Amino acid sequence: MPLETFMPDFRTEAELKDHQLTGLKWTVNHAYNGSTVYRRKLDDAGIKPDDIRSPEDIRNLPFTTADDLREGYPFPLRSVPFEKIVRIHSSSGTTGKRKNICYTQKDVDDWVHFFARAYRMAGVTPEDRVQIAVGYGVWTAGMGFQLGCEKAGAMALPVGPGNVEMQCQFLEDLGSTVLCCTASMGLLMAEEVRRRGLIDKIRLKKIIYGSERSSASMRKKISELLGGAELFDITGLTELYGPGVGIECPDHDCIHYWADYYILEILDPDTLKPVPDGEWGEMVVTTLKKEAVPLIRYRTRDITRILPGPCTCGTLMPRHSRILGRTDDMFKFRAVVIYPSSIDAILSQTPGMGSEYQIHLSRDESERGLMRLVAERSEGMGADNDEALSKEIIRKIKKKILVTPTTVEIVPYGTLPRSERKSKRVFDNRIQDSIL
Ligand code: ZN
Repeated sequence: MPLETFMPDFRTEAELKDHQLTGLKWTVNHAYNGSTVYRRKLDDAGIKPDDIRSPEDIRNLPFTTADDLREGYPFPLRSVPFEKIVRIHSSSGTTGKRKNICYTQKDVDDWVHFFARAYRMAGVTPEDRVQIAVGYGVWTAGMGFQLGCEKAGAMALPVGPGNVEMQCQFLEDLGSTVLCCTASMGLLMAEEVRRRGLIDKIRLKKIIYGSERSSASMRKKISELLGGAELFDITGLTELYGPGVGIECPDHDCIHYWADYYILEILDPDTLKPVPDGEWGEMVVTTLKKEAVPLIRYRTRDITRILPGPCTCGTLMPRHSRILGRTDDMFKFRAVVIYPSSIDAILSQTPGMGSEYQIHLSRDESERGLMRLVAERSEGMGADNDEALSKEIIRKIKKKILVTPTTVEIVPYGTLPRSERKSKRVFDNRIQDSIL
């Protein structure tokens, strides 16, 4: 018997579009009647559920943002009664308030179903042993990778993040064929496998990785160190179920996304108008079946582009490029999420330092991340104290943000460029080669 693919049985794009329109009408009606917040937003935009008659009507709907989620803490955009909610997941927020997302049983079932589809697209079968090295707990990652793996019929090995010793032991003793992790963890594990001379003792064939950008050279490095392992970039965000809402296909030139569960628009982040197919813009998503917290034109801040036309792999599911980055300044360094505002805060609490600074991110030959902080002295200060200031800032960043900058360079007041608009503070040169 052929393996279940977990794909919908549409055969044409027209059938998919019909399904999307039905889902869009359902979502607007459900949100309008289930959530006072959505009802107010739609009323303010002068839209009633019956106004949605064609796919183009999505353009008239108001946007939803991360602010809506924070303002509605602790149960933002809840659109069903509490007795229908079976689970909460959460992601960290910038200002202390987490983004909590509610799920009904159907939301969980839908997520698990299409996560199994993602595994299947990566060629995972019941023969596979899947070592899951992502965070378990209130985050969506562990639960999603775990339940999707079981649904796909493969053997789940829930090791969790870090713990290199156990990871290596499981790879060797349990014969894991698939590793799920971040790109950084993938590199770390690949280096560790090489260092310990394990390559001939393990059966690892595939890496499914997500939640972080990765360059083509980093992917190549991981694959080489693991004797030609195949890499699959998986997409997702907590607001939109979690990971597994799309995945790189075996032809490796794109991400297929599950257009039977959400509509993807790519908009210019400044004008909020659609960009032509093939051009980069902000990913905006509208869910088609999500009950507890439906999303209407949710601005994800992720930058990608639609890849028009069919894929060589033959699936009907449309595709976008791998994620290029984020519209806001948040960045990840050695798996820690850092907001420039936290650097602002440290500099402003350090006597002798000015307000202007730049963060330069790069990689060395072995693909390790480097962070160079260039910061100005306060006006009128001489260079005598630079070395002590530099040490003090490194110590504070290490204590408060839990990463250590590679260097802190103190420069005279007025050295860095000024801007009337928002200054560019983060220069991320870690990805120099192209991203598809
Ligand atoms: Zn494909």
